[in-house]
Amino acid sequence: MTFEELNVAEPILKAIREKGYAKPTPIQEQGIPVALEGRDIMGIAQTGTGKTAAFSIPILQLLAASAAQQAKTNEQARQQEQANEQNEQNTTEATSSEEAGNNTPVRRRDRRGRNHGRAQGKRVIQALILTPTRELAQQIGDSFTDYGKYTGLKHCIVFGGVKQGPQVERLKSGVDILIATPGRLLDLMGQGYIHLDAVKYFVLDEADRMLDMGFIADIRRLLPKLPKERQTQFFSATMPQDIVALSRSILTNPVRVEVTPVASAVETIDQCVYFVEKPEKKVLLISLLREQANKSVLIFSRTKHGADNISRILKKSGINSEAIHGDKSQGQRERALTNFKSGKVKVMVATDIAARGIDIQELEMVINYDLPDVPETYVHRIGRTGRAGHSGTALTFCSQDEHMKIRDIQQLTGKKLEMVLYGA
Ligand code: AMP
Repeated sequence: MTFEELNVAEPILKAIREKGYAKPTPIQEQGIPVALEGRDIMGIAQTGTGKTAAFSIPILQLLAASAAQQAKTNEQARQQEQANEQNEQNTTEATSSEEAGNNTPVRRRDRRGRNHGRAQGKRVIQALILTPTRELAQQIGDSFTDYGKYTGLKHCIVFGGVKQGPQVERLKSGVDILIATPGRLLDLMGQGYIHLDAVKYFVLDEADRMLDMGFIADIRRLLPKLPKERQTQFFSATMPQDIVALSRSILTNPVRVEVTPVASAVETIDQCVYFVEKPEKKVLLISLLREQANKSVLIFSRTKHGADNISRILKKSGINSEAIHGDKSQGQRERALTNFKSGKVKVMVATDIAARGIDIQELEMVINYDLPDVPETYVHRIGRTGRAGHSGTALTFCSQDEHMKIRDIQQLTGKKLEMVLYGA
C-alpha cells in the first residue's frame, strides 16, 4: 500500500516524500481513507504508531480542498461582480441619455455583500486538535508544519506555562488549524481570543492520558462550544470504561481503527504469574528485587496512588526507585526517566499511561504489581521488555480477586502462563 493509493493529494504527497516515508503505517492505512470520507474515527493507538500523520494528513487535505473551492467561488463572484458593474455602467449611461428626453427615474442596483470570510484575508479556526501536554502539542505542530508545507494553511499552537502574548498575536493574524492543551485553550476562549464556531474537524488526542491528568472536566466544558456538525477523530491507547463513555458522547457512528501489538510480542518473554495474597505482595516484591539487584525493572501499578505507595515501601526497604504518573510534573517525569535510562536508578514504578512512550532498550524485567482491567494492557506492559531481540521476563502478582483477569489474558494471548503459588 502506498500514500498515492490512499488518495493523498499531491501537495501533501510531496511533503511526505521529503520526510522519506516509504509507505503508510497500519494506523495510516486504516485511518486516512476513512477520515477523507468524512467519517468519525475511534482510533486505538499509542504514540509511535504514526497516528499524528493519520489524523493530520486528512485534515490538511480536506481543508486545502475547501480553501481551493472557496478561492474558485470567490473568483467567480469577483468576475460576476465585474460583469454586473459593467452592465450597471452601460444601463446608467443608456438611462441617462433617455432621462435627458423623458425624465424617467434612474434605477440603482443594490450591491451584494461580497468576499466573506477568508476572501477578505481573515482565516478562521476550522480544525481543533486537543492534546494533553505541551510536548505533544509541539510534536503535532511540527507534523502540521511538515505535512502541510505546500498547502498554504496556517496553524497555531497554544499551551500553558508560557506567556500568552505571542500565542495571542499569532491567533489574531488568523489561523486555519489550532493545536491546544485544554487549560490554555479555555483560558484564551474566556478572554475572547479564540472562537470555535467554524470548527469542522476536531481531534481528541491521547484521551486516556487526558483522563489521567484530570482534564475530563475541561473537555466536557469545551464540547458544547464546538459546532455539532463536525468530523471528530478520537484517539486513545487504552479504552477504560470512562474513555468508552466519553467517546460515545462525542462520536457519531464512528469507524474503529486499531493497532494493538497482540500475542506475537509475547513470544520472546518469559512470563510467570505468582498467586499471592494482597498483603504479601510487598514482601514478594522486595525479595524479588533483592534477587535481581542488577537488573532494570519496571513495575506497573494500576493507580497513581498505588505507584506512590510501592515507591514508598521500596524506599523503606532501602531500594531506590523512581515513580512516574499523571500527577508528576513534566520535569519530574523527565528526570525520573533520565535516571532510569542511565541506570542510575534501577527500579521505576509507573502507571500504564505514564509508561507509554517510554522506549528503553534492554529493559530486563517487568513486574505487574497488580493486574490491569483490560487484557490488552497486559500485552502492552510486558512488551516493554524483550525488545529488539533481547530476552525479557515478566512477573505478575495475582491476588484472589484478580484470578479472572489471568483467564482473560490467557485467552487473548492464546498462551498458558506458568503459575507459582507464593507463600504456600
Ligand atoms: P506518532 O505516532 O504520530 O508520534 O509518530 C511516530 C514517528 O513515526 C514520528 O517520528 C513520525 O515522523 C514517524 N512516521 C509517521 N508516519 C510514518 C511513515 N509512514 N513512515 C515512517 N515514519 C513515519
